[in-house]
Amino acid sequence: MLLSAGNHGDEYEGQCILRRAIRELDAADINGRLILLPALNGPAVEAAMRTSPLDEGNLNRSFPGDPDAGPTKAIAGFVVTHLFPMADFGLDFHSGGSTATYVNTGFLCASTSAELHRRNVDLIEAFGAPYTMVVPPGDTATDMDSSAHQAGLPFVSCELGGAGTVSASALDIGWTGLLRVLLKNRVITPDNPLLSSLSINDSKTCFIDVASDSSLITTSHHGLFEPLHELGTWVEKGQKAGNVYGLQSFIDPLETHTFASDGVVAIKRRDSLVQPGDHLYCVGGKLTREQVLALGANTTG
Ligand SMILES: [Zn+2]
Repeated sequence: MLLSAGNHGDEYEGQCILRRAIRELDAADINGRLILLPALNGPAVEAAMRTSPLDEGNLNRSFPGDPDAGPTKAIAGFVVTHLFPMADFGLDFHSGGSTATYVNTGFLCASTSAELHRRNVDLIEAFGAPYTMVVPPGDTATDMDSSAHQAGLPFVSCELGGAGTVSASALDIGWTGLLRVLLKNRVITPDNPLLSSLSINDSKTCFIDVASDSSLITTSHHGLFEPLHELGTWVEKGQKAGNVYGLQSFIDPLETHTFASDGVVAIKRRDSLVQPGDHLYCVGGKLTREQVLALGANTTG
């Protein structure tokens, strides 16, 4: 199994979780092989940046990579050429990074292969985060997940917290999810001592659609954002979402946003000062398991 974090250097939760895995998992207890990469984009991790300081490359927009197109695409190319063929499935850890906070969520890129899609759903259900964000096939064509799918590899990712920091609850959800995935795929056995203190069997995730046009609330002003809802809150269409105030005006807001659809507040902007084009919230409407499985049902492979 391939496990990676630090794809974006300012996302720290997975970097901690994979260090813990290296420290606590006993190689003698592993069936098969674990490939653990806590700092996938090393230069970005060292610089605590989303992108590489060497070439400004966003690794998760650089797949399938190219050995002759700069360091970031070279990393992507190495993963595709040398690591994907060594793995039967994979999981990449992300978070909201420096700019946003996510609910603790799995992330499922629907595949154009029905069988692969079903295996990805199995993986993300085993991970069992409180939520699973779902995007349709081809929505993120140059990321690691889609590239793994192109190689026929079951592969999912997750988004745990963010805001340039690390919370104990996000670490706990990520660590427990990782152990569940290892157990479900028989990489570790039920008698593994790491499982003894965890409630491993109660995983259940809520699938949410974050690809709809009505998901995002975006400001068109420079100003001060006043959010009215916290992450994980259920909101309804037409409900007031927040205000943006001008920095030199003190009474009426420049704009008042309302939610365009029902859903859970899945992503919230970190910084209060905003610029035109900044996303303030992302709301995800609930999807049933059948709706998620159907995303891969009209294709073959
Ligand atoms: Zn990321």
